[in-house]
Amino acid sequence: THYLNRYGILDATRRFLSKPQKMFIGGEWVDGSTGEVSAVIEPSTQGVLTTIPLATASDLDRAVAAARQQFDHGEWRRLKPLERERMLHRLADLIEANARELAEIESIDMGKSVTQARDVDIQGTIDTFRYFAGWASKLHGRTVEPSLPGNYLAYTRKEPIGVVAAIVPWNFPLQTMAWKLAAALAVGCTAVIKPAELTSLSTLRFAELVQEAGIPDGVVNIVTGYGSVIGAAMTAHPGIDKVTFTGSTPVGRSVGQTAVENIKRVTLELGGKSPVLVLEDADIPAAAQAVANGVFFNSGQVCDAGTRAYIHRSIYDRFLAALADYTATLKMAPGLDPECFISPLVSAKQQDTVLSYIDAGVREGATVYYGGRSQDREGFFVEPTIFAHCRNDMRIVQEEIFGPVLVTAPFDTVEEAVELANDSPFGLAAAIYSNDLARVHTLIPQLHAGSVYVNAHSTIDPALPFGGFKESGFGKDLGPEQLDYLMETKTVWITLPS
Ligand code: NAD
Repeated sequence: THYLNRYGILDATRRFLSKPQKMFIGGEWVDGSTGEVSAVIEPSTQGVLTTIPLATASDLDRAVAAARQQFDHGEWRRLKPLERERMLHRLADLIEANARELAEIESIDMGKSVTQARDVDIQGTIDTFRYFAGWASKLHGRTVEPSLPGNYLAYTRKEPIGVVAAIVPWNFPLQTMAWKLAAALAVGCTAVIKPAELTSLSTLRFAELVQEAGIPDGVVNIVTGYGSVIGAAMTAHPGIDKVTFTGSTPVGRSVGQTAVENIKRVTLELGGKSPVLVLEDADIPAAAQAVANGVFFNSGQVCDAGTRAYIHRSIYDRFLAALADYTATLKMAPGLDPECFISPLVSAKQQDTVLSYIDAGVREGATVYYGGRSQDREGFFVEPTIFAHCRNDMRIVQEEIFGPVLVTAPFDTVEEAVELANDSPFGLAAAIYSNDLARVHTLIPQLHAGSVYVNAHSTIDPALPFGGFKESGFGKDLGPEQLDYLMETKTVWITLPS
């Protein structure tokens, strides 16, 4: 509270945070059936903000029943595409009108920079709803003339899959939720959403806007609580048709297994360890700035962060110096500081994990070139850290750290760089810094990654699909590609008189 007073927040934000939170099921605000709650800890002060209910299996049953009812027999099912489209636009307008409050909630709850929350998380959420709103009225099948003897009318219909369960991580809470919900609503599905237990607040505030937008009760339901309890129950629930999960690879593996055992459709957006190739012709100051932003944004808690930089040997030392110079300009501060770039990590546990990876790197023989420590102040801060002369067999190079840690190594030939880049179980993204077009275009097809950024990092737009290769998951969020993961295709044959 001392901290909130220091920076000043909207009265609306203060009011929202001052109450114990409830879940949103079938259009009602409810406690969990056992009344159990979990404390929400603020990463910048380590103080308790509020509480969220811990949902039980019976709470989930009610949420699924509400979503089923709307999908199978409700008003939602009967809405015309343009009416769904208009509702999604109305929702986007409401998010926009409350953007500052949502950004403050996200920043206070998750720890992230309030400026970035406004410009990236909340703006991305608005854009995602606007983009998918337009798709509601543009879905269609095909009419085909069969070669079979006889006379037939044959065509395909695109139908919404049904009730979608969305399981969301804590790093971009509202935005990732929007990546799952906007497309699902556009095609006519209904949803049960489980935000991460560490960061449920923005999604609960968003649910108030869902109500205000006039979206029928039961179309969107929010259950809060532990992933191991309620997330696991969602993946096995018979009333759920599709599970869309974003989170870590180990949890994704178990979600995928359970979903497949129950023959549910499933999309998995998982972890990453995205490589960055810096070729010898790169513009060193510009590339160093982009590489640092690409790994330290959101304090490295970004699934497609560029965490492994392979740099041509001829520029390796100069590049590291430029990286360190730029990194030194990034302000470490509580998320509500408008100038904050390096924010506290989401939790004490995450801070411990990141610091123990830094120790492991040192023990494995990597050199700490920059940073490497926590901070003797309140909040779960870890300095932006750059390791030099790493080997690909080190744990800090192979495993996802999910914090502000960049590992680097020099390379001599691009062939070697591609081999190092692809030597990873993950395949979420990759980046190339070079202006040599012929080489860039030759490299792009060789990189095992769902997104390749050239002279950029983490550029995201709702019109373009996002999703990983290899152990970074399967299926896509965003873009028209996502729609296919939320609809069934029905083939229709009608015999006509010959
Ligand atoms: P996590 O896997 O621990 O949790 C993700 C969600 O799953 C949370 O809501 C959690 O409560 C729930 N969950 C936990 N155990 C579960 C279980 N047994 N069954 C069902 N659900 C369960 O991940 P996190 O720590 O919240 O997020 C960080 C991870 O997410 C990183 O690995 C990151 O790379 C990944 N991520 C991927 C993308 C992407 O698009 N590929 C985007 C953001 C984050």
